Amino acid sequence: MNSDSQRVLIIGGGIIGLCSAWYLSKAGYKVVILDRDSTHRESCSDENAGMIVPSHFIPLAAPGVIGQGLRWMLNPRSPFYLRPRLDLELWRWCWQFFRCSNKANVIKQRQLLADLSLKSRELIISMGEELEVEIVKRGLVMYCRTHEGLEDESAVAEMARLVGIETEICSPERIRELDPDATMDVVGGVWFPQDCHLDPTLLLSALRNSITIRGGEFVHADAIRFNRVGARVHSVEVASGEDFAADHFVIACGAWSPELAREFNLRMPMQGGKGYSMTLEKPAELPRVCSLLKEGRVAVTPMGEKLRVAGTMEICGRDLSVNEQRVQGIIDSFCQFFPAFDSAHFKGLEVWSGLRPCTPDGMPYVGKVPSVDNTIVATGHSMLGLSLGAVSGRLVADQINNSDSLPLDITNLDPARFA
Ligand SMILES: Cc1cc2nc3c(=O)[nH]c(=O)nc-3n(C[C@H](O)[C@H](O)[C@H](O)COP(=O)(O)OP(=O)(O)OC[C@H]3O[C@@H](n4cnc5c(N)ncnc54)[C@H](O)[C@@H]3O)c2cc1C
Repeated sequence: MNSDSQRVLIIGGGIIGLCSAWYLSKAGYKVVILDRDSTHRESCSDENAGMIVPSHFIPLAAPGVIGQGLRWMLNPRSPFYLRPRLDLELWRWCWQFFRCSNKANVIKQRQLLADLSLKSRELIISMGEELEVEIVKRGLVMYCRTHEGLEDESAVAEMARLVGIETEICSPERIRELDPDATMDVVGGVWFPQDCHLDPTLLLSALRNSITIRGGEFVHADAIRFNRVGARVHSVEVASGEDFAADHFVIACGAWSPELAREFNLRMPMQGGKGYSMTLEKPAELPRVCSLLKEGRVAVTPMGEKLRVAGTMEICGRDLSVNEQRVQGIIDSFCQFFPAFDSAHFKGLEVWSGLRPCTPDGMPYVGKVPSVDNTIVATGHSMLGLSLGAVSGRLVADQINNSDSLPLDITNLDPARFA
């Protein structure tokens, strides 16, 4: 059977499901994307910070994060919170995260994360050209308000060079050269010239259109179980009772993926890491370069004439509600770094929230489900779903196509590594 007559059912229509569908439909597969949310409100992909960040080659589980996280827990406006609750999965995840938060994990993962990101950047740039979505290639600046912060980031810059990521440590004067349109109150920063940014809503919408034009189908339904014969899945049952048959299946349900993986006795530890974004339609200033604000952990991205400000990481189950105190924390940090703005500029703005699918070692799960022949998992991208979406989509397509077009060893992404 060639790819033209094969059908792939992708569960989850966020960036990972859509990139997988795009590459598969280009390879001649008939794709069906099944997503229970017709409004795109549940997905984490539509209104994120829009950054393509090879600069993020250090996994979330790294030395120092636990101590910093515990200190932040005491401050209701800080960028991190973990809501304690009686949930065995949460405490297992915390234990595994604790075990992975060390130098050995950083050394084990950094080259792969850098290679994945750089490949994904190349893929997303050509995807943008084909879909006519602008990818802005001006890099990202990590701005620091303290000398201690700048020292930390200078050490990261040194490590970045080891894995092939370009960096430049910048004085305030150099920052003014890089972004003459923004007024900054900082002591310096690190510029990562290979980083890019885009408007994720435009990219997702272009992907949906292109997949539809190639004959792909979008179905709104809640997948609840897989029907199998021996080592092959033949269909997915949805909440209404209907069955959807296919030759191959992809689980790309973001923070909700572990429920479906459990159908195969595959334990993939995952927690939703909630974050917020707000978009200023007519900002007081429009920076040219996207940035991260070191001490506030806030992301700032120009999107056309608009400016998006995003942040926080709340480990709080699947709750998408908005915590006003933490939103104020984002606004306060942003206004400290960008003094042309004040809280009043954010009054009445709608706050978007999304759940990052976070794994304990900070690496995605991409690969075959061990107990069946025709099901693939692609999830757990945490803060990097947009950055790694293109490469993950290609890896999914390659696995289904039995091809090996990317020279990447992805053993560290094995979905069964915590099983
Ligand atoms: C504030 C914020 C800023 C961010 N900024 C960036 C950034 O700048 N760059 C970057 O790379 N990443 C960023 N991220 C992370 C990125 O948004 C995520 O990693 C990414 O969106 C995850 O995509 P996904 O496709 O795996 O999941 P999702 O986008 O969450 O999609 C999963 C989909 O599956 C559907 N689904 C779940 N279960 C089922 C089921 N049983 N049946 C049917 N459908 C189901 C859901 O409804 C959902 O639509 C940010 C995240 C946040 C919160």
